[in-house]
Amino acid sequence: MSIEYATRQLPVVVIGAGPVGLAAAAHLTGCGVPPLVLEAGAAAGAAIGNWRHVRLFSSWRDNVDPVAARLLDTAGWAAPDPTHRPTGAELIEEYLLPLAKLPPLADRIRYRARVDGITRLGLDRTRGAGRDAAPFVVRLADGTEHLARAVVDASGTWHNPNHLGGEGLPAIGETSATAYLDFALPDVLGADRAAHASRHTVVVGAGHSAANTLLDLVELAAQQPGTRITWAVRRTRVDPVFAPGDSDALPARGAIGTRLRQLIDDGQITLESGFVTHRVTVLPSSRTAATGPAVRLSTRDGRAVVADRVVVATGFRADHRIGAELRLDVDPVLGASRGLATLLDPDLPRSWSAPPHGVTELRHPEPGYFVVGIKSYGRASAFLMATGYRQVRQVAAQLAGTTAATRPARCHPTVPVATGVAGRTAADHRPSPVAVFR
Ligand SMILES: Cc1cc2nc3c(=O)[nH]c(=O)nc-3n(C[C@H](O)[C@H](O)[C@H](O)COP(=O)(O)OP(=O)(O)OC[C@H]3O[C@@H](n4cnc5c(N)ncnc54)[C@H](O)[C@@H]3O)c2cc1C
Repeated sequence: MSIEYATRQLPVVVIGAGPVGLAAAAHLTGCGVPPLVLEAGAAAGAAIGNWRHVRLFSSWRDNVDPVAARLLDTAGWAAPDPTHRPTGAELIEEYLLPLAKLPPLADRIRYRARVDGITRLGLDRTRGAGRDAAPFVVRLADGTEHLARAVVDASGTWHNPNHLGGEGLPAIGETSATAYLDFALPDVLGADRAAHASRHTVVVGAGHSAANTLLDLVELAAQQPGTRITWAVRRTRVDPVFAPGDSDALPARGAIGTRLRQLIDDGQITLESGFVTHRVTVLPSSRTAATGPAVRLSTRDGRAVVADRVVVATGFRADHRIGAELRLDVDPVLGASRGLATLLDPDLPRSWSAPPHGVTELRHPEPGYFVVGIKSYGRASAFLMATGYRQVRQVAAQLAGTTAATRPARCHPTVPVATGVAGRTAADHRPSPVAVFR
């Protein structure tokens, strides 16, 4: 038996059982390609489990993958109201857990299986001969190895948050100040209430995690006198970050922009714009007094904010270390695949997303390795699950057969696979606000 033939008999390893990894498994199954899902956490949706209390800005209609929904329907799933916007907890309990328990997928998922590295059998990154035919080796943290014919990396970005420092490096003093820092999305109305009630919190960052925390803190301030809120952003204006009202493609997101503007104008949130955090200092009084300001954030030009706690909501970035022995072509600005990066303009407001794209844009020089889901966007922040579902539909179709004629009909992509990127610029693909996510 040739190596190539044997490789084709191997499963496609999917890394991560988040919404996009599970959708990948559903699509691969539908295409007749056996998946093996390796999930670091103890259950499906482990990363979302960290923001269970947050309400999504997209509704069930856009949060459920169509092929996964069909599998669930067959098993008698009570589909949620398509117009309702679930919380993270609802997304897990009403969709991801039931999906992961379905017989075609349940046996194909391994939990507490953290992938540590990926390579090719018998080859390191420098060796080219026989590379395409050699199986992938996917190694777990416990030393177990799985062979795979292809790898779909849907491992997300949750475990790789950006630093507090506004220039990309950690702020000076960041490590010593961790006792006073909350990384994205503390539950300030629930489990983390005591740390923020009647205290001064500074929220750093300008994405939707920051917005969620700010709105929850405003609610806390209404219940708990003495709660103060400062919002520190690098940009000199927040409007381009949050497109208020009608100018956002998703109404719930636009409403957040409008509300934040009002809260700043009403003085409920103090805005520090153009604030590039350089240093964080733990104040001597915080070591002796139970209350009182604990930390000072300062910029290079001498501006400072003194607060009790800092919420670091500066976003996330893709971590490509597990693919270090693969041949990757990563955009130097965004850390996305170079093809996809041409569609993701870092200067666009966060309310915009890339237009539908093909599998070509996801390709790396390493054949058979695809990064999908939120990790595929690198440092770009406007990823939506609906985009990930379209990605995995196309990747599964690609892996199921090289031509449309030989590919099973049920896994044909809805948009052309080979869209190519040659000669295109980001400007050619600037999305329209109404057409992006449908
Ligand atoms: C607060 C918040 C709100 C959001 N709201 C919306 C919204 O309203 N609508 C929308 O469309 N999108 C939203 N998003 C963006 C995005 O759609 C979600 O983050 C979504 O969870 C991304 O899905 P994913 O499958 O790509 O990654 P994840 O959900 O992060 O899943 C990745 C999985 O991989 C696992 N994993 C990580 N590393 C490894 C490893 N080395 N080995 C094995 N497993 C690993 C993780 O445990 C996790 O289960 C939101 C994001 C955040 C943070």
